[in-house]
Amino acid sequence: MYTKSKALFEQANKVIPGGVNSPVRAFKSVGGTPVFMQHAKGAYMYDVDGNRYVDYINSWGPMILGHAYEPVVKAIQEYATYSTSFGAPTQLEIDVAELIVSMVPNIDMVRMVNSGTEACMSALRLARGYTGRNKVIKFEGNYHGHADSFLVSAGSGVATLGLQSIPGVTSAVADDTLSVPYNNLPAVEQLIAEHPDQIAAIIVEPVAGNMGCILPQPGFLEGLRSLCDTHGILFIMDEVMTGFRLAKGGAQELFNIKADIVTFGKIIGGGMPVGAFAGKREIMEHIAPAGKVYQAGTLSGNPIAMIAGYTLLKTLKERPAIYTQLQEKTEQLIAGLRETFGAAGVVYQINHIGSMMSVHFAEYPIVDFTAASGANNELFKRFFHAMLERGVYLPPSAFESWFISNAITTEDIEFTVSAAKAAMQAIR
Ligand code: PMP
Repeated sequence: MYTKSKALFEQANKVIPGGVNSPVRAFKSVGGTPVFMQHAKGAYMYDVDGNRYVDYINSWGPMILGHAYEPVVKAIQEYATYSTSFGAPTQLEIDVAELIVSMVPNIDMVRMVNSGTEACMSALRLARGYTGRNKVIKFEGNYHGHADSFLVSAGSGVATLGLQSIPGVTSAVADDTLSVPYNNLPAVEQLIAEHPDQIAAIIVEPVAGNMGCILPQPGFLEGLRSLCDTHGILFIMDEVMTGFRLAKGGAQELFNIKADIVTFGKIIGGGMPVGAFAGKREIMEHIAPAGKVYQAGTLSGNPIAMIAGYTLLKTLKERPAIYTQLQEKTEQLIAGLRETFGAAGVVYQINHIGSMMSVHFAEYPIVDFTAASGANNELFKRFFHAMLERGVYLPPSAFESWFISNAITTEDIEFTVSAAKAAMQAIR
């Protein structure tokens, strides 16, 4: 069933560390051999052995309208003939920036980068340059990319691999990152009190998606905003996952909370490697060459990435019904899974909002990293593999969110729920 994938993984391990270019792909947490993909269309991915999967990661978010979305593919093909990079400005970059400013509340200016990591790293540098302070508060199990400052109590692959501290990150850098449990406002207040006038920024995933999906409890984001206001701290919302997914204006729009700096990735590039950070003019003009906080990139604003992102974002702006459809589809899936898990008699928690969701096998609510870590990971592993064998591709770790695409149909969801029923029978 996975003959070619197995051979490729062996081959890959000789020339690529761990056989993959990003850790979670390696199936380390769920065990077994990663499946090598060959192509994908709409809601489906096809592997090198010819197996088809209904896709619930969607490239970890970008494929919100499904794989190989025709207008994006066409736009990439057309623009590739103009050149794949200039290293000089283009009108397209203005079009993209204007489009983003028109969709996202509370921002005047955008700087494009090449990944979510770069976006968060640059946002932190900007916050430090702007405030003249060094420290940052982040939350346990939140992931903001692999820049040194954020590899403290991080989620995603760092959590999946169970890494406590990362060799290569110096204590000088790590000491400036203060970490507290998600959804714990008193812990944030205490940290601020212990470090008066030293905190440059609080960075948060407004909906956490890197320890499974965990929602902010009522008052949490509002509380962070008001602590930032009181103490002259910049509030960075990492919308790499939530941006353009929870709503066209992301979590800022959905929760009606203003951030000082917002970071983006994933959807913003339509599947090409892109990230961005954005904010009010007064803050953003501290970035070089307008200001002194240096930030740059040879391929930043790359025309192929820009046209892919522009085409996808424009569709999302013009068709707001997509968000309602995404939510309905996610709710249909969740209803089916609840029935399935209920009938199988397993304890479970499903957290969800919009088209982000996750399943933890636990009997208590999953509100932070400690709770997520205590869930039954063994059962998740078995469930993952039983679903994979039945043609459903879930995130290969319980510390990741599921992302639903609008290419998925009612029939695909019924197929998924049937697979889940068979899977639960097989693994009990
Ligand atoms: N922030 C968040 C919230 C993320 O989920 C991720 C990636 N999953 C990143 C930052 C880093 O983005 P990238 O992988 O594009 O560097």
